Amino acid sequence: MNVAQRAGAELVAKSAGGRIAKAECILVSLPFAGEGLPVWSFTSDPKNAFDVMLVRLETDTGLVGWGEAFSRAEDVSLRSLIETRILPIVVGEEANAISRIKHKLEFGLQNFGRVGPTMYAISAIDIALWDIAGKAARLPLVDLIGGPFVQEVEVYASLLRYGSAEGVAKATRRAISEGYRYVKLHDVKYEEIAAAVEEAGAEATVMLDVNCPWSVSEALAMDERLAGLNLHWLEEPIFPPDDYRGLARLRATGRHRIAAGENAGSLRDFVAMADAGAIDIAQPDVAKTGGVTELLKIAAFCEASAIEFTPHCAIFGPGQLATVHISASRQAVPLVERLYLDFEAELYGDATLPRGGKLAVPQAPGLGLEPDMSVVERFRVA
Ligand SMILES: [Mg+2]
Repeated sequence: MNVAQRAGAELVAKSAGGRIAKAECILVSLPFAGEGLPVWSFTSDPKNAFDVMLVRLETDTGLVGWGEAFSRAEDVSLRSLIETRILPIVVGEEANAISRIKHKLEFGLQNFGRVGPTMYAISAIDIALWDIAGKAARLPLVDLIGGPFVQEVEVYASLLRYGSAEGVAKATRRAISEGYRYVKLHDVKYEEIAAAVEEAGAEATVMLDVNCPWSVSEALAMDERLAGLNLHWLEEPIFPPDDYRGLARLRATGRHRIAAGENAGSLRDFVAMADAGAIDIAQPDVAKTGGVTELLKIAAFCEASAIEFTPHCAIFGPGQLATVHISASRQAVPLVERLYLDFEAELYGDATLPRGGKLAVPQAPGLGLEPDMSVVERFRVA
């Protein structure tokens, strides 16, 4: 190898970010204040706290990448799965081989689920590898995936469930007063939904997410009842969430634009939804559905299928940052979701708190922000 070749090889090694030398999973649970109920709880003892399931990868060149797996209710079983089944496969790999590592994990673990915890874990690895790739290239993630269309994204206030007309109207008013122009409801009763729509008036556009409570016939009845409220979209009206034929039947009434996809595992699920005619708006979650790599594939598929791409985002760590970068890179910039609650501490300080309903795209390399380790240590549960 001559001098120029050696210099080139060194440059490649440096920009590649090296090999994954260390990998760990850190489970944090951030408490929040809020008058609403946590609709995502599935334990008998719901807590007003959100998991942030962090994956930290470190290369032998000293670069650190952060990823996040979707998690709820202090999910130590998911942390154990990541530690024992996922991280050992990743250690020793070249950090720049993002798609190859993702394929290796998906292929090797295909018997353990194409939707759910295994995919959440794979998503976390993918996000962390993209963070490393950005740091190695000294570019923010958005610049690696085509560059930004915008420097800040519009955020919608994704309200909790308040269970009373007064509660949901009050939360709607507060969100509007803070500058949000889009508000999403999680209440399920007509009176509460109507109260929020009335409160919003012409000041905000209202979406409704009911988290899969209804049978197809119940959903059809509600679809008719809600028709006059002019909702921007109706999200996950039917259980189970993969009843694509049921969604298609509801969508065929033409009364609401149907949004779904946060419970999907990969691009293939969105192809199946599109084939069934189930959705107008695709909502993949970067921390559930295969990370940045898979979301970019889904975005391209949506673009070619007359489906809106609007990622789901009810996470507050690296996955939230990745969602902002991906959103900013789309020509039709999607609204970015942020659950409307006040954490005791934010993982990134003020940088991820929307101002006037907007969030700036981080400009530093990779995801562009590093977790506040004092917050991580204070709220770490496993
Ligand atoms: Mg939802």
